[in-house]
Amino acid sequence: MFSVDFMINILGIISFLTIILLVITLFFKIEQMKTLQASFNKVKKQLDEMDEQAKLIMRTDLELNKTQEELDKKISGLYALQKLSRSIASTLEESQIFNMVDPARLAELGFEKACAFLWDDAQKRFLPQINIGFLAEEIEAIKNLVRAEKDKFLALIKSEKTFSSLSGLDPVLREKIKATGKVRAFVISPIMPKEGESGFLCVGTEDPDFFINEGDEELITILANQLGQTIENARLFEKTWRAQQDLEKKVEERTHELSRLLDEVKAISKRKTDFISSVSHELRTPLTSIKGYAAILLAEKLGKLPPEIRERLEKINRHSDELVHLVNDLLDIARIESGRMLMKKEPQELKELVATVEDLLGVQLKQKQIRFEADIPAEAQKILADRSQLERVFINLIGNACKFTPEKGRIGVAARKTDGSVQVDITDTGCGIPEEALGAIFEEFYRVDNAINQELKGTGLGLALVKHIVEAHGGKIWVKSSTGAGSTFSFTIPSG
Ligand code: ADP
Repeated sequence: MFSVDFMINILGIISFLTIILLVITLFFKIEQMKTLQASFNKVKKQLDEMDEQAKLIMRTDLELNKTQEELDKKISGLYALQKLSRSIASTLEESQIFNMVDPARLAELGFEKACAFLWDDAQKRFLPQINIGFLAEEIEAIKNLVRAEKDKFLALIKSEKTFSSLSGLDPVLREKIKATGKVRAFVISPIMPKEGESGFLCVGTEDPDFFINEGDEELITILANQLGQTIENARLFEKTWRAQQDLEKKVEERTHELSRLLDEVKAISKRKTDFISSVSHELRTPLTSIKGYAAILLAEKLGKLPPEIRERLEKINRHSDELVHLVNDLLDIARIESGRMLMKKEPQELKELVATVEDLLGVQLKQKQIRFEADIPAEAQKILADRSQLERVFINLIGNACKFTPEKGRIGVAARKTDGSVQVDITDTGCGIPEEALGAIFEEFYRVDNAINQELKGTGLGLALVKHIVEAHGGKIWVKSSTGAGSTFSFTIPSG
């Protein structure tokens, strides 16, 4: 059998082994606990992170809601502002502009009260323009405040900035505005048209829940700018309208004056025509007698004439012819001017008419060995004219060309059909006409001061008569010439 010692030893060994086992088990348990603790920590960290994220999401959601609300407010504000701007811009009458600010639209912007003032430089004071929502005593108090603090309001306009009860404004003035207008919050913005005097717009609210922000200041700035722009347009329109009225008045006065002058000129011209006409008639009778007596004497019906008397009588006869010619031209001009001489417009053959005139002037042309060329194409052949009067036109123009063209020169007559009429150009290679004389050439009694005119006689009536005849046919006459370069007289006559 086992001894006690043996048993004790066995028990000791068993205990020792048990203790070792327990230690080993404990060690593993501790390790397990550590792993568990680590997992627990990880999970806790994740939970914390999730919690943070949830809080962030809630915060973001709140901010998003706020932004959305602000955005909604801004959109409805912009919508109201657009309507306000449109109705303001619909008038061009300065006195009507502020009446176009609709209180309902202004309320949509959050303000139930508004007033505006424009500076009057003549009176050196601000003049009230609108009152929306202020009681009579409130607006009176505001007017007094604006009067008392006019320098501060002028400085505010000069700064070109918008202020509100929130920011920027001198605290004393801010509190005064709040107190006088009985408003909790307000925005004040300058009105600055480019033309004329400026002013300001002040809007406010008593609403305790209304909190002004930068967006409100921006909207009121836009509204004040719109008012300034419309006032500027109205002033420009007024200015333009006045200028136009002035111009119309001036034009009317000038027209009146011109028609009075025209009547005067017509009366003078008639008096001149009547005078020439009666003087010419008076001259014609004695001239006819002079010519008659000279003819009787020259015919030697009263006895033979000594040569020196004959010579003088012939001179009297020649000069009387010239005078008769002059008197006839004057009478004709007077008759055409007064409308007493009517042109008998009949179909004529231009070529044949020119040939007749060439024949009539044949001697002069031959004497000076002048080459005469007529170029009248078939389509310019037929014209409508008073035969004898048109002959006078050609005789005068070709006669002048012959007179002012040196020997062996050239005279050309060319015709061409234009719109409803025939244009005739009479060209010569003569002395030409100085530029400064061209404007006066068709006036009665005008003659260029040159050597040929000093030598040869003339009345200065030929071209005036020609012009009257052409115009009495409904045509026009003009000249192109310069000294030494020949001349071209052109006129139009109705085609047949
Ligand atoms: P008159 O021939 O009797 O002087 P007109 O009225 O026919 O009067 O002409 C006015 C002036 O115009 C002439 O004196 C002359 O100086 C100028 N004139 C007219 N025709 C010509 C021409 N073909 N060439 C140069 N000068 C001309």
